[in-house]
Amino acid sequence: MAEVDVYRDTYAGDVTEARIGATVQVAGWVDRRRDHGGIIFIDLRDASGIVQTVIDPSAIPDGHGLKLEYVVSICGVVRERPEGTQNADMQTGMVEIGVEELSILSAAETLPFMLNDRVDVDERTRLEYRYLDLRTPRMAKNLRARSAAFRAMREVLDGLGFMDVDTPTLIRSTPEGARDMLVPSRLRKGSFYALPQSPQLFKQLLMVSGVDRYYQIARCYRDEDFRSDRQLEFIQLDLEGAFWGREGVFETLEQVISTVVERIRGESIPTPFQRMTYAEVMERYGTDKPDLRFGMEIQDISELVAGSTFGVFSSTVASGGVVRGINVGALGLSRSAIDSLTERAKSLGAKGLMSLVVEGDGLRSSITKFLSDDEQTSLIGAFDGKPGDQLLLVADTPPVAGAVLGQLRLELGQPDNNDDLAFLWVIDFPVFEVEEDGSLSPAHHPFTAPVDVEEMRTSPETAISKSYDLVLNGSELGSGSVRIHDPVVQQQVFDILGISPDEAERRFGWFVKGLRFGTPPHAGFAVGIDRFLAILQGERSIREVIPFPKTQTGTDPMSGSPTRVDDEQLKELGVAVRPEAKPEE
Ligand code: ASP
Repeated sequence: MAEVDVYRDTYAGDVTEARIGATVQVAGWVDRRRDHGGIIFIDLRDASGIVQTVIDPSAIPDGHGLKLEYVVSICGVVRERPEGTQNADMQTGMVEIGVEELSILSAAETLPFMLNDRVDVDERTRLEYRYLDLRTPRMAKNLRARSAAFRAMREVLDGLGFMDVDTPTLIRSTPEGARDMLVPSRLRKGSFYALPQSPQLFKQLLMVSGVDRYYQIARCYRDEDFRSDRQLEFIQLDLEGAFWGREGVFETLEQVISTVVERIRGESIPTPFQRMTYAEVMERYGTDKPDLRFGMEIQDISELVAGSTFGVFSSTVASGGVVRGINVGALGLSRSAIDSLTERAKSLGAKGLMSLVVEGDGLRSSITKFLSDDEQTSLIGAFDGKPGDQLLLVADTPPVAGAVLGQLRLELGQPDNNDDLAFLWVIDFPVFEVEEDGSLSPAHHPFTAPVDVEEMRTSPETAISKSYDLVLNGSELGSGSVRIHDPVVQQQVFDILGISPDEAERRFGWFVKGLRFGTPPHAGFAVGIDRFLAILQGERSIREVIPFPKTQTGTDPMSGSPTRVDDEQLKELGVAVRPEAKPEE
């Protein structure tokens, strides 16, 4: 093996026709190898692309030893590929390198899977060998997109005068509504740090410090169940600004988001983004994160059918419920398909599902016998029904009808291969959510300002807050709010949440104290970068855009974390594993 310390002077992807006749040195991995009657073709891959090289093993005997994924440095002359072997689809497809010198820099064992996107490899194996998985074109592209997104975000925000300030990751708990990840303190045995669920309180205190515009690509930790596409740790683009309000936040984010989209997808997206109130999205789409790439909106026909002779309609409305439905179009659903939709609706909490098909100027359904001709006509009108259209109706309480129809709308209408981007600001969220036991919890977080403090005190269940979400294609990309900057109002929120002054003092006293020393009005936002990238890259899971993610059960098959630790280590921390928590040997 020849000793070299200069490995290359040219990237593989740059070996194009412009270089014909030049001697170049390239370095990378053996991507493909073909033996053709005494001549060996090696496709050499580096971070920039792939170039074909041609070895005559009678001159370069080492050529025989090359295997897939060996790392080599090659010196040779760029020449035109012979007629008929050119590949116009490849950046370097018109040329090849005639190899004059070959150095094998590193051998490779047979890989556990082929680095070929077409080969289905189970995710656990991909994660166990993530470093190899990241060699595949798809994953390398995702990594590059991630880096491009970071760069674009920083460029825009630096340009707008934002300051990048880092905040600690060993902190006292931040209340974002999830379980904290804890780190035991060795120096103060029996005490624990929490990993930040977000830098929320620190960024607010930076406003007290006089920082005017803050941002950070911040790592956040939430110990949530893995029921959906979540990770224990994720990154957010975290922002805060003093003397700032909703309009300023929106304008800045639209600039950041559209620049990222432009850089990654080369598309310019229209701004300002559409806006809807929380009340409106819940009524029209049954969810606070509607996918606006398609219509199929929920129609409320309660008024229309309040006086119906059909008891299900009239009694539901009379008892304060609603009758709502969606027109799912001419799907031509069979009886059994409708039965399974009904089962689905029930599993989502509905008492039942009524299905009607538009036929001429009437409706076909098992319930049409209860509906007058006029009622049928106005129903068709309400849903803008065309012959063949299928209407699905739910008579229930507003939250149940909304949730069930919202979910059916998604399942029946969400486009599969549609890479449109439909952004939406959802504004005017309530301050609080009413829990099943009647207690209140913050709809965003407890530092969010109400629109009207008096209204919040007198009717907390319906009071509106100054918080907002950004939604993209049915996913919540991020959320933020105008904050409370008056410590008195902050205490009132704690009171309404049932947090006693003592408890508030114990948990948030350190933060509220800061608000007493001259706090500018401030507002902010955080964008979940992993989810944003997954959508931009057309990936279903955020794990595809995270360099080293955990599995859905929170493990890392590559390093084997989480692991047990030595008793000695635990002792030093003053920590013992409870007997019932001891994992099986
Ligand atoms: N801290 C919030 C979150 O992580 C975002 C914000 O209000 O700025 O969701």
